[in-house]
This record gives sequence, C-alpha cells and structure tokens, in this order.
Amino acid sequence: ESVDRKIFELLGLKEEREKDSELYKVFSEVFDKTTQETLEYMKKRGYIDTLFGVISTGKEANVFRGLDKDGNQVAVKIYRTYTTEFRRIWEYLAADPRVGYLPKDIRKLVFIWTRREFKNLQRAIKYAVRVPEPLAFRKNILVMEFIGNEYPAPRLKDVERTLSLEEFEELYHYTMRVIERLWKRGEMVHGDLSEYNILMWDKPVIIDWSQATVSRNKMAKTLLYRDLRNITHYFAKKGVEVEDPSDKLKELVGE
Ligand code: ATP
Ligand code: MN
Repeated sequence: ESVDRKIFELLGLKEEREKDSELYKVFSEVFDKTTQETLEYMKKRGYIDTLFGVISTGKEANVFRGLDKDGNQVAVKIYRTYTTEFRRIWEYLAADPRVGYLPKDIRKLVFIWTRREFKNLQRAIKYAVRVPEPLAFRKNILVMEFIGNEYPAPRLKDVERTLSLEEFEELYHYTMRVIERLWKRGEMVHGDLSEYNILMWDKPVIIDWSQATVSRNKMAKTLLYRDLRNITHYFAKKGVEVEDPSDKLKELVGE
C-alpha cells in the first residue's frame, strides 16, 4: 500500500482527484515517513480516526482538527521533524532539569520536545489551570482536547475588538492569577503567555505549552518575567490599570 494511499485514508479523501486539494498538499509536504507511521499508530489505537483541516501552520508545528474513533473532536499538534527551530529547542531542553540525556539527532530532540509539552499540560491541569486536556503523544505527535465546536475557539487577539474594559480587567486578573498559581503551587512557568496563546472558550484556555518549564530551571525567572511583562504590557494598552512587572517578579521569586 502506498504512502499516498494511507494519507488518503486518514484524510477521509475518497476520490483520486481530491489529491489536488489544498489539504492534501499541506499533508504531503509536512508528513515524512516517521510522521506517517506515527499517525498510523494513533489510528490503530483509536486516538485519531480522521484528520480534517489545518488549524494552524506554525514555525515548529502544524495543528489539525480531527476525530477520534468515537467521533469526538481532537486537536492534533504535529511537530516538524526537520525544524529550523533546532537551536532554540536545544537550548530550552538543555536548561530543563527534568530532561536528562539530549540526543544529537534532531528528530529525537523533537520527540522529547513533544513529550515535554504533554507533561506540561498534565502538570498545569493539576494546578487547576484550564488547558486542552492532553490525550496521547507519540514521537512528534500530540493529541489533545479540541477547544471549540465547529471551528476552533478564537484567540484573545481575534476578539479583542469586541471586549469592554471590564472584560479586559477580568481577563487581566484571571491571567495574573494563573501565572501566580503556576509559579507558587505548580512551581512552573508557561514562558510564552500572550494574547495569541489564550483561547476564548467556556473559560480562557491557555495553549502552547512547549516552552513551559519548572521553576528549578535556570531560565525560569527570565521566562516568568517575560510572561509578566507581556501580559501587563498588553492589558495596559487596553486601558487596564496593571501592576509593575518587576515588582510582581520580586514578589513571586521572593528576592
Ligand atoms: P505558533 O508558532 O503560531 O505559536 P505553535 O506551533 O506554537 O504555533 P500552538 O500555539 O500550540 O502552536 O497552536 C497554534 C494554533 O492552533 C493556536 O493559535 C490555535 O488557534 C490552534 N490550537 C492549538 N491547540 C488547539 C486546541 N487544543 N484546540 C483548538 N485549537 C487549537
Ligand atoms: Mn502559539
């Protein structure tokens, strides 16, 4: 059976002429052999039955909407195994005390990166932070709860024009409480918190946990400050009376 045939099945594309579709192009471009095999494994296990449209094509990963064997929607984040982000990934992993041996093979490094995002999601949930529930991971593929219904939930950035000052104030406090709870109780930091990584759903849902790490990490305080600075800066622009990020950092790290 050809690799093309297998992608076809996974996509639920029935007719050969659909091979010209945009979706097919994206898939064949990003799916190397390892990724295809891993997708087949996920299918065998029932974590993914069909993949639909591309939600996002980022620098390090593509995110797809899919269905599991019971017809529930899932979000499937597929990391590129040939990433230009290699240096950044290496630096972040090297600084994480939870990560032991670092392989020289780029692909294996990406597998560790994927597993780490899964673990970060689990850890965040433990400290009552609303995130997509992690469902499965293997190699460079992460399956998680899909946030949205027919369409993925909008990001804070997408809906900012519709929000009132009161709503921004509430969101600001919510986000600051998340940062604080993660740091104090979870001993962790997200590291890339912004209006692009908050989905507006039943509650604000924090996504994109690949760079998150534990407070023992020597980069942790820098990441914590980055989150505090980005969030206060964003909400200040929206008219919210915000705290000083440096003061907040001192308060949190106790120095
Ligand atoms: P970027 O480089 O653009 O930040 P990324 O590769 O780091 O992307 P994410 O930020 O995790 O990947 O996800 C990219 C986009 O995919 C998000 O902005 C969001 O729109 C969508 N997305 C991610 N996870 C989910 C999910 N669980 N449910 C619905 N949509 C999601
Ligand atoms: Mn993101």
